Amino acid sequence: MVLIIAEHQNGQVKKTLAECLSAAKQLAEKLGGEIHAVLIGSSLDELASQIDGFAIKKLHLIDSPELEKATTEKQADALAPFVKGGEFKAVLGPASAWGRDLTARLAAKIPCGLATDCTELRWDGDKPIFYRPVYAGKAFANVAFKNGVIMATLRPNVFPPDEKTGETPEKGTITYDAGSVASQILDIIRKATGRVELTEADIIVSGGRGIKGAENWGILEELADTLGAALGASRAVVDAGWIEHSHQVGQTGKTVSPKIYFACGISGAIQHLAGMSSSKVIVAINNNPEAPIFKAATFGIVGDMFKVVPILTEEFKTIVD
Ligand SMILES: Cc1cc2nc3c(=O)[nH]c(=O)nc-3n(C[C@H](O)[C@H](O)[C@H](O)COP(=O)(O)OP(=O)(O)OC[C@H]3O[C@@H](n4cnc5c(N)ncnc54)[C@H](O)[C@@H]3O)c2cc1C
Repeated sequence: MVLIIAEHQNGQVKKTLAECLSAAKQLAEKLGGEIHAVLIGSSLDELASQIDGFAIKKLHLIDSPELEKATTEKQADALAPFVKGGEFKAVLGPASAWGRDLTARLAAKIPCGLATDCTELRWDGDKPIFYRPVYAGKAFANVAFKNGVIMATLRPNVFPPDEKTGETPEKGTITYDAGSVASQILDIIRKATGRVELTEADIIVSGGRGIKGAENWGILEELADTLGAALGASRAVVDAGWIEHSHQVGQTGKTVSPKIYFACGISGAIQHLAGMSSSKVIVAINNNPEAPIFKAATFGIVGDMFKVVPILTEEFKTIVD
């Protein structure tokens, strides 16, 4: 059997579940067995209903008020006996901040190996090989498991999300026996940006060094707000301190795969492309016709972003209104 650890935030199951499912299907086909998923938290019924439709045989709920603001330490404590007790040959989770933290603890408790931040699932006969970038993408590792449970985290927005097929997973509740843990979350303070999270966004407006300074983000924010888009950035502007690192797209930032990606004043360095080249449509705005971003772009506009972006914003406003 293959188990998927489903991540959720703010009452939404993250799309990494659907991405893990496409890899889980390959694993289940070769290794045999059903695909199960597990949700962990408190009052999970509504979240569980969001998983209806996916080709998952059984959804396990570790549901307890104790787990409402649980640390990954507590969550791993709750998951470990369940994973150990089940006949899971493979466990997949997201390589998000939460997934990385949780699976590292879980793998230590099982104990088993862990291939983190994988970007491809390859096969050596019937043996799964997890392909993962290492040293900030300067090299790649092929990870195989000698024995024990196969555990891996998948980089978000890389594996194609599996579509809902109309099946309804059987649901089962796992009892959680609250053990003693060393840490506890007292409060979660969310930064109110009013914008969609970068890795979940359908549209991203991203800015690079062409923006010239932190004071000019306004033109990109206006376009982003008009389209209900998230705000992205190149590493150059993050390093310059013009925007926070949480906005960085690329090899050492976030991997995104929106429907539309606007690259404004971004040259298109290989490390930036590594994080956004799977976007469905790429619109590049750059005043240098030789900029490498144009090779990756679906639509290219050669021009000064300070002139082009406001024109686009005004045009989109007429459509959106
Ligand atoms: C190990 C490693 C990891 C890295 N990880 C990342 C990563 O995760 N993400 C990332 O982005 N980079 C990453 N980089 C850095 C990457 O190599 C580039 O340096 C960076 O992406 C360049 O950012 P930029 O395109 O904003 O700046 P530049 O390369 O300076 O490009 C600015 C562009 O703006 C255009 N421009 C200037 N003025 C205007 C204007 N008025 N209107 C329109 N266009 C204009 C210019 O023609 C130019 O093409 C990494 C590098 C290394 C070595």
